[in-house]
Amino acid sequence: MSKPITIALAGNPNSGKTTIFNALTGARQHVGNWPGVTVEKKEGSTSHNGRVVHVVDLPGTYSLTALSEDEIVARNFVMKGDPDVVVDVVDSANLERNLYLAVQLMEMGVKVVLALNMIDVANGRGMKIDHERLARLLRVPIVTTNGKKEKGIKQLLEVAVQEADKPAGDYSASHVTYGLEVEDELTKIEEKLESGPTPEDRVPTRWLAVKLLEGDAEVEKLVEQRYGNDGVLDQARKSRSHISEVFGDGADIAVTDGRYGFIAGAVKESVVVDRLDRVYLSDKIDNVLTHRLLGPVIMLLILYGIYQCTFVGSEPLVGYFEAFFARLSGFAAAAIPEGLIQSLVVSGMIDGVGGVMGFVPLIAFMFFAIAILEDTGYMARVAFMLDRVLKSFGLHGSSVLALMVSGGIAGGCAVPAVMATRTLREPKERLATILVAPLMNCGAKLPVYALLIAAFFPGDKASMMFALTLISWGFVLVSARVLRSTLLGGQSAPFVLEMPPYRVPTVAHERSFSMQADRSL
Ligand code: GDP
Ligand code: MG
Repeated sequence: MSKPITIALAGNPNSGKTTIFNALTGARQHVGNWPGVTVEKKEGSTSHNGRVVHVVDLPGTYSLTALSEDEIVARNFVMKGDPDVVVDVVDSANLERNLYLAVQLMEMGVKVVLALNMIDVANGRGMKIDHERLARLLRVPIVTTNGKKEKGIKQLLEVAVQEADKPAGDYSASHVTYGLEVEDELTKIEEKLESGPTPEDRVPTRWLAVKLLEGDAEVEKLVEQRYGNDGVLDQARKSRSHISEVFGDGADIAVTDGRYGFIAGAVKESVVVDRLDRVYLSDKIDNVLTHRLLGPVIMLLILYGIYQCTFVGSEPLVGYFEAFFARLSGFAAAAIPEGLIQSLVVSGMIDGVGGVMGFVPLIAFMFFAIAILEDTGYMARVAFMLDRVLKSFGLHGSSVLALMVSGGIAGGCAVPAVMATRTLREPKERLATILVAPLMNCGAKLPVYALLIAAFFPGDKASMMFALTLISWGFVLVSARVLRSTLLGGQSAPFVLEMPPYRVPTVAHERSFSMQADRSL
């Protein structure tokens, strides 16, 4: 029996990782969390010629600088978790940007296989990718795939297993050369590293040197632990300031430029683009949906639609649940003689479980609506349009969903709102959203407000309720601002707001969505 293989799936968000993960592992999946963080960990398995192949879906990242939890999780797993091979799922239609991660994986000295996914989209845009040539240039195996149609998946598995089986010494991905000046400094740092103790893990010294030059705090910590104070960090500091002097920019920028230069070269040699001037359908849709005036109006309508879907759509089901539990407790009350036991069963168990179950239809409807928003790519536009406003209160563009559902439109509910924050990646923004969302004008507060309004402002009911909703918004935003500058202080990691092209949502994706919903419940 040959030993089992572990494949890690890496890739930018929206490159089709989950789709490929599903295609590889089918129903044999397990969803959990990475230890110590709220980043979701998906694992599954498949087999190849009778051999067990574990597949781990890493969080989607653009880079492996340790700026966000996602990136740290992905990087640490590659560094310490010892996947036998990393399959980097690349969105072929955005090849250059996606290769940035690939290049960093290659630098880490792990075995990398590129899955040029969305090859249909790339071809549709007139991109002709000579993937064999690209594979020769990068010196890593490349397979083209169409995750949606499950094309190329078998071959991807085949190639990944082959690569995993290669002896480590055979591995020779190309590496970026950063130009004389930077290379000189890298050599100096590497010399210092090599004069220290020989590390037991497999991180190449070159990678450590590059990271030190970039000023990566996590790697600095690692090196400090391993080498103590014997001048490695000093050398790195000296090199950094030397590079800044020469280039007038930070050393990290010189390194980033080097990588992009390398990628631009590789792409130029292996990709031909016809029809450069074509206006893509997505751009046309964006012209309307993110229009300066029309965009916000459409957005409000869509958010209102989600609100309606969550609360009105689920109403019959909620009613059904309530009726069911009412009958159940009536039945139990009749069957069990009055006393402590009856009280425990009726008021404790049945009413208790019923109270919680009453929220389930709400949450299910809302998650369904969110899944569609995310899958079509519209969620990213909402985040984009609102990011600047909400950022100034320390929140994220996507926080708006939670705020709306929790009662930003009077009569919402904080329970599904808190769950809606799962679309937020940045922990502090998510926590701030969770903490302030319940301050909105939720359904439970409405009767009280209605009572007070009827007593004090009988002539002006509707406008008073509207005023209360506006006051709630103000209160929520100010509270968020206060939280983010006190308890939840600190800069959010800068990150690129991804604008995926619009897509028709697929059922295959819904499977992973429903699994996530299961877990969160
Ligand atoms: P992830 O964020 O990397 O996990 O990406 P997903 O797997 O969620 O995919 C994002 C969207 O791209 C989904 O709507 C998929 O159905 C779609 N998709 C995935 N692979 C392909 C592909 O090869 N071609 C096309 N046209 N769409 C794809
Ligand atoms: Mg995914």
